[in-house]
Amino acid sequence: MKTKIDLLKPHISNRELCYIEDAFADNWITTGGGNVDRFEKKIAAFCKKKEVLCVNSGTSAIHLSLILLGVKKEDIVICQSFSFCASVNPVKYLGAIPVFVDSEEQTWNMNPYYLEKAIKECINKKKKPKAIIVTDSYGMPARWKEISSIAEKYDVPIIEDAAEALGSLYYGTNCGGFGDIAIYSFNGNKIVTTSAGGAMLLNSKKQKDEALHYATQAKESNEGYKHDMLGYNYRMSNVLAGIGIAQIESLEERVKQKRQLNQFYFSLLKEATPFTLKQESQDVYSNYWLNCIRSNSISSLEKLKNEFKKERIEYRELWYPLHLQSIYKNCLFYGSGICNQIYENGLALPSSTNLSEKDKSRIAKTLNLFNAG
Ligand SMILES: *Cc1c(COP(=O)(O)O)cnc(C)c1O
Repeated sequence: MKTKIDLLKPHISNRELCYIEDAFADNWITTGGGNVDRFEKKIAAFCKKKEVLCVNSGTSAIHLSLILLGVKKEDIVICQSFSFCASVNPVKYLGAIPVFVDSEEQTWNMNPYYLEKAIKECINKKKKPKAIIVTDSYGMPARWKEISSIAEKYDVPIIEDAAEALGSLYYGTNCGGFGDIAIYSFNGNKIVTTSAGGAMLLNSKKQKDEALHYATQAKESNEGYKHDMLGYNYRMSNVLAGIGIAQIESLEERVKQKRQLNQFYFSLLKEATPFTLKQESQDVYSNYWLNCIRSNSISSLEKLKNEFKKERIEYRELWYPLHLQSIYKNCLFYGSGICNQIYENGLALPSSTNLSEKDKSRIAKTLNLFNAG
């Protein structure tokens, strides 16, 4: 039987174990510690942000970001429907109410026109949104110029969900550099992984201290067990931070490899196939975390899925819009259904940076079945 080609495999260098050994040598394998400090500094240096707090997942990072922005029960938070559920579930953890916004065709991220419409209507109903969560989906930066100016105009803070976009740039600024707070994920399939983990990108020491307090059970001091608010156990393990240090040292190389893979798909798909590869616009440098296509024919898409299955090549459907999910189906949605269409005619292709030449030729052979010539 043919070996399976995975959608996204972690790409381990030869240094992760060395940094993990540091944690053992220090006998500090719990949360926080030297590796965590080093990893936070490396992230801050890479994305040119002042303060970084590492936590145990991207989801926790979004949860704490909402708390820092003062989101409470019954508050409205504007969210991108075309995103991973972890983008929005923390809104629900807090008893707040998501209002969903559609995507636009170019980036598949939040449509600025419908964002403004949603904000205006919320304000008209005397429920000004408390925050906006915008995702740089699949590593593609959102339309930050328009989105930021709308948020500024109505004075609503933004959380940038850059979980998938570490290494992507928008007009030269790193994803993670937009919004009032941004987050990364270091889950196993992300471009930098710690096996499980996340980070918050913050603007001040004060903000970081506050986030750290929430992430460490809101403990008043290290000496005792007084807790001045409801806290969480959200800190990153020092062992896992060791993996992250080695991973981020390879980030630039990984982005190059992801971009080469995008070129590989581009040259395969530019012949008259029914499929169009998602590509960056001029002002953007994407990390191409996940290569995605859209098909102009549903039957070709079904045929491609079948061919991939036969070849044991893993693909993934794109996000099922959150406003259609059972737990969110009663929420408001502003848009014309672009995200529904992206879900219906889109597909994600294998995008590991460690694909072998043999794997690539198996993928090429399958995609070439759809060439007209
Ligand atoms: C991975 C991901 C998250 C959640 O990160 P975890 O580390 O898995 O909790 C949130 N948003 C998006 C867009 C993601 O891809």
